[in-house]
Amino acid sequence: MGFSKSKVTDVIVIGAGPSGLSASLYAGRAKLSTIVIEKGVPGGLAATTHWIENYPGFPEGISGSDLMQKMVEQVERFGSEFVYSSVNSVSTDNKSYFSVASDSGVFTSKAVIISTGTNPLNLDVPGEDRLRGLGVSYCATCDGPFFRGKDLLVIGGGDSAIAEALFLTRFASKVTVVHRRDQLRAAKSIQDHAFNNPKIEFRWDSVVNEILGEAKVEGAVLKDVRTGRVESIKTDGIFVAIGSRPDTGFIKVKVDKDERGYILTDERMRTPTLGLFAAGDVRAKSLRQVVTAVSDGAIAAVEAEQYLAAGK
Ligand code: NDP
Repeated sequence: MGFSKSKVTDVIVIGAGPSGLSASLYAGRAKLSTIVIEKGVPGGLAATTHWIENYPGFPEGISGSDLMQKMVEQVERFGSEFVYSSVNSVSTDNKSYFSVASDSGVFTSKAVIISTGTNPLNLDVPGEDRLRGLGVSYCATCDGPFFRGKDLLVIGGGDSAIAEALFLTRFASKVTVVHRRDQLRAAKSIQDHAFNNPKIEFRWDSVVNEILGEAKVEGAVLKDVRTGRVESIKTDGIFVAIGSRPDTGFIKVKVDKDERGYILTDERMRTPTLGLFAAGDVRAKSLRQVVTAVSDGAIAAVEAEQYLAAGK
């Protein structure tokens, strides 16, 4: 593939969630020519969160979509250009230029910030899409406080599911973990906490066949995979925690990843490829929240600025 150097952008940010928006803001304020490429709606997963109560500066909380819209406006004020398109590959000619191929054509830049986040795995059952955000959630930290005194289901048997179930007992009156086997995958220590928690029940060998409800979640159809028995039960909310995957398949330059596919960076968001940075949930990190994502984005943009200033 040839590399057009006729219109070379300083920085291309891939993904306009909180980390990508923060990176674009900092790059724009640094007067770097910046394109942010987003395949869907800006704001990422945070934009789908009903109410965000733990982002500093909003004492009453703020809806995820409002917070993300404010971030978009702030980015636009400093001149970054939004392109709405799906990125298919990031490659380099090893002579300081990156080529970002998208459905809208090929863009060329001197630096790239990957901020594509993760995609929670879906159950792929009827009702899931329709009731997403209306009782179907993929983030207990984000949405748990909205379910005070409610009965909830958590789907999955890994560390995330059990951690979410434990967290949700702070708010819910009852949390039922629905797992497709009769043994949890989660670490034994966290299992013990769950088994000893009087608010947590387990529904073994069961899968969700359908999520029920009109304007909000009202129930679920569960199937016992051993007997085949199908049963409708009532619930107020369903937290899906069956794993998630970072979105990195399009990266054709050298990056290191952990065993789950998350990009390994140093604390300056650098990857082994000079000029290529990663920020936000796509990174291997311990806390995936808006506040940590925007921090990553700021660092990545400042590092990109310094990389460019050094004339690399
Ligand atoms: P995991 O892949 O570890 O677990 C996913 C769980 O969901 C499994 O129990 C799996 O069942 C179940 N599952 C998968 N697909 C389906 C499906 N289609 N229908 C129903 N159930 C399904 O994902 P996690 O997000 O829990 O964790 C990911 C990684 O992050 C793990 O390595 C984990 O250790 C780590 N992690 C660590 C934490 C910590 O240390 N505090 C906290 C959170 C995550 P089955 O067991 O049968 O495969």
